[in-house]
Amino acid sequence: MDLRQRINDVENEIQRACERSGRERSEVHVIAVTKYISTARAMEAVQLGCKHIGENRWPDALEKWEAIGDQATWHFIGQLQRRKVKHVVERFSYIHSVDRWSLAEEIGKRAEQSNKIQNCFIQVNVSGEQSKAGVSPNDLFSFADELRSIEHMKVIGLMTMAPYESNPEHTRPVFQQLRHLRDQINERQIFEHPLVHLSMGMSNDFTIAIEEGATWVRLGSVLVGKDEDPIE
Ligand SMILES: *Cc1c(COP(=O)(O)O)cnc(C)c1O
Repeated sequence: MDLRQRINDVENEIQRACERSGRERSEVHVIAVTKYISTARAMEAVQLGCKHIGENRWPDALEKWEAIGDQATWHFIGQLQRRKVKHVVERFSYIHSVDRWSLAEEIGKRAEQSNKIQNCFIQVNVSGEQSKAGVSPNDLFSFADELRSIEHMKVIGLMTMAPYESNPEHTRPVFQQLRHLRDQINERQIFEHPLVHLSMGMSNDFTIAIEEGATWVRLGSVLVGKDEDPIE
């Protein structure tokens, strides 16, 4: 399918999900996840209006970053090793996968050296699947509390990945729980600022995530396709 058509179709689905749940379209931001596609196709997506790019590996993202640079805003969405933090902090405006102290500490250190405040999400393993990264809901409040001491990090929200379900409706409780955890962090006033953002929803389940309050959806295959798709 044509890239322009895909982007239109996704936009229509987002608008319908916002209408169903009484939300403003402007509350929901889209990250085009380009890990499955070529640099040429990623550039085409940017030209067609995808202004936020998500990548989950470093240095795999380097070629695209060099080609696209500041024509897009960069989101790091994958598991991150400490020795790669420097490269990621230098280039990505958002890191969605903060899930342990050693990583957070390194991000703070590198952000200070780069003279920036790094926007981050805490990744939460809501479903408890072994294969998934993220802090457990039980550890979330104490972890969030620890992060307050990192001056060059700004925690802006929570991120999760729902298990793949053939019926996406089954992912709804995962998204509801992430929203609930965010609200609890705000009630406890763990951070001086309230957390606004929920990074949740992928190709299979983004309309459900939007109904449950997603402010960032991370869309790969449904939005920009995969490389085996014919490129027009
Ligand atoms: C790959 C990936 C996505 C996008 O996956 P699709 O199912 O193709 O939309 C979203 N979030 C994370 C963390 C990913 O690794």
